[in-house]
Amino acid sequence: MNKPLHEMAQVVTGAAPPPRRSVRPELAAQQTLELVRYLQTTLDPTRLIELFSQEVGALIPHQGVRYRNEDLNLEVKLGTQARHSCSYKLNLGDEPLGKLSLRRNEKFSDRETEIVERLLCNLLYPLRNALLYQDALQLAQKDPLTGVCNRAALDEVLQRELSHARRRQADCAMLVLDIDHFKHINDRYGHIIGDCALKAIALMTGTCKRDGDLLFRYGGEEFVVLMRDTDRDGAALLAERIRCYIAENPCRCSGAELAMTVSIGVSMLADSDTAESLFARADQALYRAKHNGRNRICVTDPPS
Ligand code: GH3
Ligand code: MG
Ligand code: MG
Repeated sequence: MNKPLHEMAQVVTGAAPPPRRSVRPELAAQQTLELVRYLQTTLDPTRLIELFSQEVGALIPHQGVRYRNEDLNLEVKLGTQARHSCSYKLNLGDEPLGKLSLRRNEKFSDRETEIVERLLCNLLYPLRNALLYQDALQLAQKDPLTGVCNRAALDEVLQRELSHARRRQADCAMLVLDIDHFKHINDRYGHIIGDCALKAIALMTGTCKRDGDLLFRYGGEEFVVLMRDTDRDGAALLAERIRCYIAENPCRCSGAELAMTVSIGVSMLADSDTAESLFARADQALYRAKHNGRNRICVTDPPS
């Protein structure tokens, strides 16, 4: 089960004199058994790193642990920052599993890093399983065509965002975007170019939104943007920015230049709203934008 230690490249940083710590090897063996048992109890990478840190902490005291997996855009930060770190690139065969570091204010001794490496070997398989599971969860919430979050993700996130906004008494806005006369694009150029156009719209919308805004493909040629901490003016501004950007930037798909426009409906979260009523108001606003001639935005006021 355990991978050889040479699969893990160690980087130890920091320059302070090493304070000697007594590490009892007999405990390390016992700890290893406990560790394996504990680490197999979760498929949540954050919890897994937390368990690992707790168990290792009994032998190698540390103040913080960091784990980063760029492929899954996953970052775990536990405890506090410290001057010294003992860092490892974790690999299982050819498979990179991310980078983990333990941190504390005293330098790690060679004996200690040796023990950490031994314990780390027991993390590799549970971590690989947790990452595979995480990847599957992320895939299930992603639209395969455009790569943005799908409707299942929207349903989940919306509940969370609504309670978050209510708890903090913060503004929250929703924008529903629909491509104008998209059927013509399919009819004229075919579905492959239609698909390419959909990807371009997702990309352009993603470019215009701010970092904290969340973009979803609701279905077909409709997209939703959830805007945290955004009032009516801010939401209208973003909607208009997206509309203009798309109208002014024709996209190129397999040699064809496609000039597209979108219509956008915007709603603001009200006290009485459910996820469904917030969406329904944005959808009604979108309908009005279409009715009024397309290539425009329409913002609804919250119900009085
Ligand atoms: P409107 O301005 O009123 O929104 O007109 P529209 O033509 O955009 O609206 P309509 O709802 O009539 O057509 C939407 C089209 O989007 C029809 C459907 O074939 C197309 N569509 C939905 N999903 C996809 C997809 O994944 N790929 C492609 N290529 N087309 C899609
Ligand atoms: Mg539509
Ligand atoms: Mg449409």
